[in-house]
Amino acid sequence: MAGLTHPSLVILSGAGLSAESGVATFRGADGLWEGHRIEDVATPEAFKTQPELVHRFYNMRRASLKTVEPNAAHDALVRLEREWPGPFLHITQNVDDLNERAGARKLLHMHGQLRQVRCTWCRAVLTWDGDLETSSACPECARAGKLRPDIVWFGEMPYYIDEIMRALETVDIFLCIGTSGVVYPAAGFARLAAEHGCARLIEMNLERTGISDHFTEQRHGAATVVVPALVGELLSAS
Ligand code: NAD
Repeated sequence: MAGLTHPSLVILSGAGLSAESGVATFRGADGLWEGHRIEDVATPEAFKTQPELVHRFYNMRRASLKTVEPNAAHDALVRLEREWPGPFLHITQNVDDLNERAGARKLLHMHGQLRQVRCTWCRAVLTWDGDLETSSACPECARAGKLRPDIVWFGEMPYYIDEIMRALETVDIFLCIGTSGVVYPAAGFARLAAEHGCARLIEMNLERTGISDHFTEQRHGAATVVVPALVGELLSAS
């Protein structure tokens, strides 16, 4: 390690991190739900024209969280968060709560969270574990029909962008786990980190992706295998 400063670490995770817990990825299988492309359900337009359909999709996904548990990759990332001596940030595109349930604290949900809803009238953000209906009333302002899943839909601005951009300006080691590199702006983070001088960029995935060329290292394999192995390597070298 150079001097007194410890290298900074930024992690970007995607659906592949939670796949072995049993949370479906978007682009696996046929990418359809009840015959709809996911991209057609996860939009503000779909919520405007077919709110019942959108609620059903997110109610199903929210309920399914009760049937899944964090896996060895989530656990390894929490170990890394606790033991890494330098600055640490985990940015996840995942809307599940498996990182928190494994113990993660330095975590940003850039695409929102399934277990949260947002009132479009009073802007309250609330924890929500049951089903959401078009008639549900906001517990804060009592208005009915104004709650929506606290999910960043296609075409909407992801959360924490300023904080993420600042972290990418100074990152020394960038890890990317289980993301297809299709959804922007997250798909551009590796290139941005490299442009800011990050010299070590490691992609972990079952296979190469459309953004693989931006990385300096590849670890191909299941997240529950490659992530704990890399965490062990990083910590023993730190
Ligand atoms: P994606 O479905 O597009 O891609 C998943 C990637 O993970 C693929 O490249 C695949 O090869 C890889 N993968 C699959 N299983 C893996 C495993 N066991 N180990 C390692 N890699 C594995 O997912 P994405 O890139 O995260 O897509 C972005 C969008 O999908 C985000 O907006 C996100 O919110 C949403 N999403 C989230 C969840 C979740 O919260 N768990 C689930 C599905 C989709």
